Amino acid sequence: MWDCSEAPDAKCMGRKVWCAADSCGLFCTGFAWLTIVGTDFAVSRLVLRPWFFNDDAEFVTVKGILALATMHFLAGMALLCHLKVVFTCPGVEQRNTLTSEDLRCFDASNDLETNSRRVCRTCRCYKPPRTHHCRVCNRCVQRMDHHCPWVSNCIGKYNQKFFLLFLLYVVLGELYAVSMFVARGLQCLNRSNECVDPMRPYGTLIGLIVCIVSIFFLIFVLTMACDQCEAISDDISQIDRLQYQKQSERTIYETLTEIFGEDFSVYWLLPVARGRMVPHSNHRE
Ligand SMILES: [Zn+2]
Ligand SMILES: [Zn+2]
Repeated sequence: MWDCSEAPDAKCMGRKVWCAADSCGLFCTGFAWLTIVGTDFAVSRLVLRPWFFNDDAEFVTVKGILALATMHFLAGMALLCHLKVVFTCPGVEQRNTLTSEDLRCFDASNDLETNSRRVCRTCRCYKPPRTHHCRVCNRCVQRMDHHCPWVSNCIGKYNQKFFLLFLLYVVLGELYAVSMFVARGLQCLNRSNECVDPMRPYGTLIGLIVCIVSIFFLIFVLTMACDQCEAISDDISQIDRLQYQKQSERTIYETLTEIFGEDFSVYWLLPVARGRMVPHSNHRE
């Protein structure tokens, strides 16, 4: 039912791959990747290597390896989660399930306010609760939270977990990067004779610029994370909140198990689809 290769208005790159990119989404996605890769490179090359290794990488220390591995792990997970959000179908309703006659009957009943069933005239289908039509994707998206240009996709039933993980790993990665920049900067201020520019003559300048960009990116991502925390604690999507829909009575844990597809386990931290996140899985909705 949700096979995205059948989505006529999404630019699919082969079968079963979802890609709803528009020009704004492509630009923002490229900027996000550049920031993550650039930060990883700058911290590794300009801070950690000169700090923990000598020029010939002779004095390799456990501390140095752990510091480099932490940065690469956080950047790698952030990139992987981002790719999963971009290329995972958020969950869409099948189109053209209503005929013109059905739509006429619906109009004749004329009770848009009281009728519990809603229809989408663009997709010509019924819209279950919490399903909304996205103008960018041009589809009705199940449990739609919002359309995010930074991942060039809707955040919905099947990719909200990956979006939350992306925010988590970016926040951790940028916090780690900024603290490394600041710690190394303070060390070099005190012992400037021990610190040389690792990429003469612009290494220090590049490091400073990347550090400032990282701080702004961190603030921006933290804002998105706060919005998501609020939406989860109130169990209401951002789009439902804008439409003044009622909050549900579920607990935060119940909302999280719905998003992550299963009860808490280590898989919550990994960008893999499990349990109710898998379309057609045997788990009860
Ligand atoms: Zn629709
Ligand atoms: Zn969308």
